[in-house]
Amino acid sequence: MALQLYDTYTRSLRDFTPLHPPEVGLYACGPTVYDYAHIGNLRTYIFEDILRRVLEFNGYTVRHVVNITDVGHLTSDADTGEDKMEKGARRTGKTAWQIAGEYTQAFMNDLRHLNILEPTIWSKATDHISEQIAMILCIEEQGYTYLTSDGVYFDTSKLSDYGHLGRLDIDGLRAGSRVDMGEKRNPTDFALWKFSPQDARRQMEWESPWGIGFPGWHIECSAMSTKYLGSFFDIHCGGEDHITVHHTNEIAQTEACLGTHLANFWMHGYFLQIDEGKMSKSSGEFLRLQVLLDRHIDPLAYRFFCLGAHYRSKLNFTWESLNGAEVALNKLRSAAYEWGTPADTVDAEYVARFTAEINDDLNMPRALALIWELVRSDLTPAIKKATLLQFDRVLGLGLADWQPAVVNIPDEVMALVQQRQQARSEKRWQDADAIRVEVGARGFEIEDTAQGPLVRSKMR
Ligand code: AMP
Ligand code: ZN
Repeated sequence: MALQLYDTYTRSLRDFTPLHPPEVGLYACGPTVYDYAHIGNLRTYIFEDILRRVLEFNGYTVRHVVNITDVGHLTSDADTGEDKMEKGARRTGKTAWQIAGEYTQAFMNDLRHLNILEPTIWSKATDHISEQIAMILCIEEQGYTYLTSDGVYFDTSKLSDYGHLGRLDIDGLRAGSRVDMGEKRNPTDFALWKFSPQDARRQMEWESPWGIGFPGWHIECSAMSTKYLGSFFDIHCGGEDHITVHHTNEIAQTEACLGTHLANFWMHGYFLQIDEGKMSKSSGEFLRLQVLLDRHIDPLAYRFFCLGAHYRSKLNFTWESLNGAEVALNKLRSAAYEWGTPADTVDAEYVARFTAEINDDLNMPRALALIWELVRSDLTPAIKKATLLQFDRVLGLGLADWQPAVVNIPDEVMALVQQRQQARSEKRWQDADAIRVEVGARGFEIEDTAQGPLVRSKMR
C-alpha cells in the first residue's frame, strides 16, 4: 500500500518516499490578495489539505509552506499590464498594503470554515524582497539574465530543458508569436525584476542593484520555497493553470541558480468550473464562500462536494449538486452521531481498504464510496464510529464534534409558514412556492406532512 502520487513533471504515477523522512516539505502557491478567493481557488486548497492529511495519515510530518502574493502579479501572465495589487487598491480606494492585509485575513477565514489545516509557515512576498533580490543576483551571475528598459529578464533560450514541465512547444511558440514581445528576446522570457515607472511612484517599490522597482511574480516562490524547504524538496503544488507559466518559470529560476528542479513531485489540482466554463477572479463574476454562508449552506458541504471528484478532473459547480452534497453530508453526520461512543478499536480491513484508496493518488471518490459501504455494513455501531473517525483525519469533516443543532424557529419564519398555509388553502400555488423559497433563504425547510407543515433548520 505504498503511497503513489501523480507527478506532472514526469506525467506519471510515482511511489512517494520523502527525501528526508519522516519530514515532508510541501509548498503550495498561495493567493494573490487583491480580491477575495473564489470557491474555485478554494477547491485547490482543499486538494492540498487532503494531500497533507494523507501524508500525515501515512505517518509523515509535513512542513507546509504557503505564500501570500502581495506584490508583482501582473494582470497579464506575459509580464505586461498593471500590478493586480495596485489595480485592486484603485478599485477599492484603499492602499495596496491595506487590501493585502484585508484579503489575507478573509482568505484565512475561508480556510478555517473549510477545516483546512493552517500551514506550518505563511510567507508573504513583501517580507522576502531581499531573498528575491539575492536569487536574481545568483541567476544573473550564472549568465541567464538581460536588461531591458523596463526590467531584468530571464533568457529562457539559455536553458536546454526550459518548458519541460508544461511540455511547451518552444519552436511553435516562437513561430506563432504574433504578440508584441517588446524588448523581450524570446516569447517565453519573463521578468525577474520590474522597474517602477519613470514618472510615477508605486505604492509598493524597493531599491535594488538594478534600480527602484518590484519583483516579478515567479521569483517569490523560488526564493521562499528554497529558504524554508531547501533547494530540492518533496512536493510543490498549485492549480493546473500554473503548469505552463508560473511553475515552469519557478523551475527555470531555480535550475539556473541552484541546478535543481526545485521539487521532487509537482502536483496540480484541476479547475472548478461553473456552467462548464472557467471560474476566474479577473472575470469579475465569481462565487465567494460568503455567498454560500449567506444562503445558510454549510461550508463543509462544499468541502464534501469537492471530495466527490478526483483532484485531477475538472469539477462543474451547480447549486443542485452542492445541495446534494449537503444532504449526503448530513446523512453521514446523523449516522455517525447515532452510533454513539466509538469503540477502542477500528475495523482493520476497512482501514486497509481506505488506506489503499487514498494512497492511490488521493482517490477520494472511491474512499467516499467505501465509507457508504461502512455505513451499510453490519459492524457494530461503536466499531463503525471508531473506524469513521479514523478516516475523518483525512476527510476533515469534523465528524467527532458534530451534533444535531437544537434550533428555535424564529417568529418571522413561523409567520411565513402560516402565510404559506393560507395561500395553499386559497390555491394560490405560486405564492405558496415563493414563500417556501423565502423560508429556505432564511435557513429553514418545510416538509408537508399529513399532520401539517413540519419546519426544520437546514443546518442539521
Ligand atoms: P490566485 O489567487 O489567482 O493566484 O490563485 C490561487 C490558486 O487557485 C492557484 O493555485 C490557482 O491555480 C488556483 N485556481 C485559480 N482558479 C481556479 C479554479 N477555477 N479552480 C481551481 N483552482 C483555481
Ligand atoms: Zn508560486
